Amino acid sequence: MNDRVYPKLKPYIVGPLGRCPRCGEGRLFCGFLTLRPSCEVCGLDFSYADPADGPAFFASMFFCLPSISFAVWLELAFQPPYWVHAITTLPLMLATVIPPLRPLKGWLVASQFYHKAAEGRLVREGEVADPRTW
Ligand SMILES: [Zn+2]
Repeated sequence: MNDRVYPKLKPYIVGPLGRCPRCGEGRLFCGFLTLRPSCEVCGLDFSYADPADGPAFFASMFFCLPSISFAVWLELAFQPPYWVHAITTLPLMLATVIPPLRPLKGWLVASQFYHKAAEGRLVREGEVADPRTW
C-alpha cells in the first residue's frame, strides 16, 4: 500500500507528456498507444483508464482540418485524378492526425484520474439497495 500523499497534478500537463497522473514521474505508456499496467514509480494501477475512442475523436475532429482544407483546395483548384490525392492528401492527413493521438490519450487518462471519472453505479459495493430511500 502506498501511503505517500501526492499533489494534485494538472491533467493537461502530465497527460500529454505521458507521465503518471498521480506522481508525475512514472511513464504512462509502454508503446505508442499501449498503457502500462501500472506506474513503475508510485504503483498506480492504470486499469481504471478507458479513454475509448476519445483520442481518435478529438484527433479526427480538430487535427485533420489542415489536410481536409488542403484536399478541398486541391480538388477545387485543379480537379486532379484520385492518385494525386493518394500521394498528397493521404500522407498529410496521416501526418496531422496520428502524432496527436498519444498526447490526447495521455490527457484523457490523466483527466479520468483527476476527476475520478468511472462508470456509473447505482449501488456501491457492500451497500444494500433500499427502495424506501428512492
Ligand atoms: Zn506514478
